[in-house]
Amino acid sequence: MPARRRAPEFSPSQYHLHWLDAHPPKLAYRGGDAKRWQAQLRKKFRALLKLPEGPKPPLAPRTLWTREHELGRIEKIVYRSEPGADVPAYVCLPRNAQPPYPWFVCLQGHTTGMHHSIGVDREDESKPFAVEGDRDFALGCLKRGFAALCIEQRGFGERAEVALAAPVKQTCHQAAMSSAMLGRTLLGERVYDIERGLDYLWTRGDVDRSSVGVMGNSGGGTASICAAAALPRITHAMPSCSFCTYREAWLSIHHCACSYIPGVLEWAEYADVLGLIAPRPCVVVAGAVDPISPLPAVRKAFRDAKRIWKALGAERKVKLVVGPDGHRFYADLAWPALEGLLRLGR
Ligand SMILES: [Zn+2]
Repeated sequence: MPARRRAPEFSPSQYHLHWLDAHPPKLAYRGGDAKRWQAQLRKKFRALLKLPEGPKPPLAPRTLWTREHELGRIEKIVYRSEPGADVPAYVCLPRNAQPPYPWFVCLQGHTTGMHHSIGVDREDESKPFAVEGDRDFALGCLKRGFAALCIEQRGFGERAEVALAAPVKQTCHQAAMSSAMLGRTLLGERVYDIERGLDYLWTRGDVDRSSVGVMGNSGGGTASICAAAALPRITHAMPSCSFCTYREAWLSIHHCACSYIPGVLEWAEYADVLGLIAPRPCVVVAGAVDPISPLPAVRKAFRDAKRIWKALGAERKVKLVVGPDGHRFYADLAWPALEGLLRLGR
């Protein structure tokens, strides 16, 4: 029997695209005073992320181990983000630089966790691990004289859900759904962990506060963009394989539930969110054949975002680099671009 053709009007997702055509985001940047617009949208964006506001508990950092590495010293710590929510992290200090260091917060996406960032086995952190797709972000930092704070994001690696026999593969799915039931967002909780990571860095004496960036691939890139957009203490960003239009990516191609922000398109497209990072330096990394971020849509979103840097007199401080393959980081392209932007000054 021939497959039955379905009218587009029967598709709920097609209807959402139709709805979006009729209801463009209310706070999309449409020219004018970009600084004022940013203040308005940043407040709204933090509210959409449901970022916890109010008093913060003590960080109570504790060291689990410290190890010498050929590129520097790596310490594994745990700090408290919220009461009942602790964050494991690696603190990596470069051998070839002197404090105060420039820093990067490094974030993995849907991998087996932050152990990728330092290239060690997940179960035995003394064993080297062959990292694919240049996801050994912290080693890339150490080679270039940056210190790194590698955070285990909620739902990934050591913070993956293990107690639930879920019929879905993603170790973040349950937490994404339960956070929504509570009126929170998992992405907002991840951004809050980053904010608390900055609080931790601010307690240290070896941080150049004028140079604290954030980087990551996929779900790590998404958290990088959202964190830099929401948190003015972040001075630059290098998100990879995570930026596109919400319309052509999240509304049109399956994405993990952990990176959806309920209500965001009522107010802003992704270009507007990225534009909250302006005029700070930002390198957007994309893959030419990334199946979940179609390149033409990435380029369109980038052009839209770049208008915001231009409005703030910083057109040269945002750059798109496109690697030849798929959904991964491209260290050899991204790092020279980032270092070039940092040399322009802030
Ligand atoms: Zn996820």
